[in-house]
Amino acid sequence: MELTFWGVRGSFPVARPHARRFGGNTPCVQVTAEGNHVVIDAGTGIRRLGQRLLSQGCPRELTLLISHPHWDHIQGFPYFEPAYEPEIEISIFSILRDEDKLETLFSGQQHVAFFPTPLEQLPSKVRFLELEEGRPQDVAGFQILTHRLNHPGVSSGYRLERDGLVLAYVCDVAPSRDVLLADPRPGVSEEAFLQELFENQVRLAEGADLVIYDTFFTPAEYAERRHWGHSTLEDGLEICRLAGADHLFMFHHNPERRDEELAILYEEARRMGESQGLNVHVACEGQTWKLERGGLTACE
Ligand SMILES: [Zn+2]
Ligand SMILES: [Zn+2]
Repeated sequence: MELTFWGVRGSFPVARPHARRFGGNTPCVQVTAEGNHVVIDAGTGIRRLGQRLLSQGCPRELTLLISHPHWDHIQGFPYFEPAYEPEIEISIFSILRDEDKLETLFSGQQHVAFFPTPLEQLPSKVRFLELEEGRPQDVAGFQILTHRLNHPGVSSGYRLERDGLVLAYVCDVAPSRDVLLADPRPGVSEEAFLQELFENQVRLAEGADLVIYDTFFTPAEYAERRHWGHSTLEDGLEICRLAGADHLFMFHHNPERRDEELAILYEEARRMGESQGLNVHVACEGQTWKLERGGLTACE
């Protein structure tokens, strides 16, 4: 299994020099395994992925998993060039939601007032599918599981399994100990739902080889912005410890975080991870990693 980070920045894309090393595009991760591949989230990073796919002979069928419809996770889609190729079919998956269907939201993003080509007029065949929470399904050669997370609205993380290897994408997510930010579940108390959302993170990451986690905040920043819907490295370490995961990737970097700062946070994080037997890495735009039974290696 291989993964490539095409966008690692949270909230909004950054084109300033301070983000040159780790990258300024918003979330997009490509996961491949023997010709099969899925793309997680359609932030601005998906633009370069689309160009790369077309230059290499794009597969006719593409699969996107969307964590939630906040702009930074969908704003790259109108600029995804394979969507303009008539022979390509794009399946866009998200968690089952009662209202505000993802198709309607994507269509709104491409309303002619905002963008010249409406979703419905894209030359490719685009279809929207929903995944039932907690029920693993076979999608594009991977077994995929989704669970809701504590983040404003309806947001979900993903667990991808193939040939005994497990990758978990737990982003965007706030700690599930303070404030309930997710849309409530009817008939379930706030306290009980928060507990469920906390356990969902562990379910997604259970025994995972690799966890991509929302480490947007430092603990001091989190204390000031608990309602924003993001976590800290410390939360990621806790989830990985409870889940028995092997590798943690710091991800969804704060757009104001300078490269030098992020490098220092990463060094600290690596040491903290070592003390609990966890390998910590920092997601860097353009980097590809190979995950095998024997371990994880950086390709470029
Ligand atoms: Zn985000
Ligand atoms: Zn979000």
